[in-house]
Amino acid sequence: MRSKVLLSELTKENLYHCNKCGLCLQACPVYKELHVESASPRGKVQLCKHVLEGDMNLSKKVNDILFSQCLLCGSCVAACPSGVRQDELFSGLRWRATQRYGIDWSKKVLFQTLSHKWIMCGSTWFVKWARKLFSGPWIESKIKLGNLPVDGIPPFNPKPFNREFPEIVKPEGPPRAHILYFHGCATNYVFGDTGRAVVSVLNKMGVEVEIPRDQGCCGLPIFLSGDRETSLKSIRETVRLFARKDIDAVIVDCATCGSALRKEYSQILRELRDLGEDIEEKLIKDAELLASKTRDVSEFIDEHIEWLPEFPTAEGPVVRVTYHDPCHLLKGQNVGLQPRHILNSLPNVDFVEMDGADTCCGGGGEFQIDYPETSAAITNRKIENIYQSGAEVVATGCPGCNITIRSHLDRSKEVKVLHTVQLIQMAFKE
Ligand code: SF4
Ligand code: SF4
Repeated sequence: MRSKVLLSELTKENLYHCNKCGLCLQACPVYKELHVESASPRGKVQLCKHVLEGDMNLSKKVNDILFSQCLLCGSCVAACPSGVRQDELFSGLRWRATQRYGIDWSKKVLFQTLSHKWIMCGSTWFVKWARKLFSGPWIESKIKLGNLPVDGIPPFNPKPFNREFPEIVKPEGPPRAHILYFHGCATNYVFGDTGRAVVSVLNKMGVEVEIPRDQGCCGLPIFLSGDRETSLKSIRETVRLFARKDIDAVIVDCATCGSALRKEYSQILRELRDLGEDIEEKLIKDAELLASKTRDVSEFIDEHIEWLPEFPTAEGPVVRVTYHDPCHLLKGQNVGLQPRHILNSLPNVDFVEMDGADTCCGGGGEFQIDYPETSAAITNRKIENIYQSGAEVVATGCPGCNITIRSHLDRSKEVKVLHTVQLIQMAFKE
């Protein structure tokens, strides 16, 4: 396979901006654990260069490095002074490697499930039933999926979140804004509490919330695993439903979904078009419109914080809260100050920073299942930093980080993990 057919010229251009300065090394959670050049962002950029210039094969060994030594967290992108988009190179080559070496059957099943709403819905019923029938707390406490303890995974919602509400939820009085809410799979099937908090807080701010019924997976977990063909279905459906000029914003409560809608869709579509795939210009334009409208919920609330009614008078105990920056929110969307600003403004909250708040939690979606040792080393640092902060609550803005962190917290210490918006809802005594 020659270089030209692997990735577009625009993506390849990144290779020539790397001056090998090494400033990305200390930002990389995998390099900090493995201490080998092949695991460093700089090393992987050079690896991509050799493969894309055709003097090295896209071998099984290269494939293993691309998957086992990278969380696609984007920390190297944020740290690089030369503006190298390592994530575009690494995920692009993952795609080509996946085409060559295939995907294992369990992932094929998972990706088909995520990309078909009706299969996804049926599967959650099946898992709920199986979990009830075959497992109990004792059994679950003994099982791990890679590095992820099964008993830390929260139960599914009794019914999908989007069946709890009408399609349009109106605030009291004339609306100040009309937004579309992309709740993603995690809120729909697991974190219904987060979804209820989003609707409640936005309504209190006078925002009319539209929750499109037909929405499904954003496609990013599928795309990052190299299966771009399957992820295209999710991208097309999301763009069709959410790229609308007549709305004020598309609000997202998940860092990964937000990063997909805001950043990844247009890039993926342009890359595929440049490689000769059948991608219509209108789809790219619509994806750009969607990107311009998308806001993380904490960002939107902070932008319009004067719309929040006054909090009831603070009484009762003060809760010590810290914040974990999801990679796809801080490095992917530059949202970090806003949730801290909100947390600092809440009554009954004593906000403390933890060490390494902006470092990855080690989850990385399937990374923690496929590469448990590296994942465990990164997660253990995060958990230690949480304990050191003395916080009783860890606020965050990503359901994936939430699951990874809560699964590794010592149950006896009773530290809770909540979405930032849930803490706002609690400040209203709900
Ligand atoms: S920081 Fe950027 S320019 Fe420096 S080695 Fe890393 S990728 Fe290359
Ligand atoms: S994306 Fe994250 S894990 Fe991958 S090389 Fe960059 S910093 Fe390291």
